[in-house]
Amino acid sequence: MRDPNCIFCKIAAGDVSSEIVHQDDDVVAFKDANPRAPLHVLVIPREHIASLVEAREPRLVGLLALAAARVARDAGYGRQGFRVVANSGPDAGQSVPHLHFHVLAGRPFAWPPG
Ligand code: 5GP
Ligand code: ZN
Repeated sequence: MRDPNCIFCKIAAGDVSSEIVHQDDDVVAFKDANPRAPLHVLVIPREHIASLVEAREPRLVGLLALAAARVARDAGYGRQGFRVVANSGPDAGQSVPHLHFHVLAGRPFAWPPG
């Protein structure tokens, strides 16, 4: 299902342009418009799901996680490392209410996050 007001639904449908790095029947991965690292890709389900708390399908969440790893590996960061982040809700700073995994790589990341 698609939310007509959702920017990521529009990106998944191709109605808003983005730099897509991977897509299949279930997921789309595209470059973040405001990159925070040399590699910063967002991996989303085609289906509109507001956040990880709303996710119900283990298969789909698994596909998102595997796609995130694939994006990092295909960009050459499989060995050096990468970070996958799903901000959920206001305390985590989620700004787009369509489930997405950030894939970040190309520099060291602090832990714990701010
Ligand atoms: P959040 O803050 O929800 O965890 O992450 C949302 C991300 O989406 C941000 O990193 C932001 O830069 C990115 N973003 C927001 N709107 C667009 C857009 O229209 N195109 C692309 N490529 N990225 C977007
Ligand atoms: Zn959406």
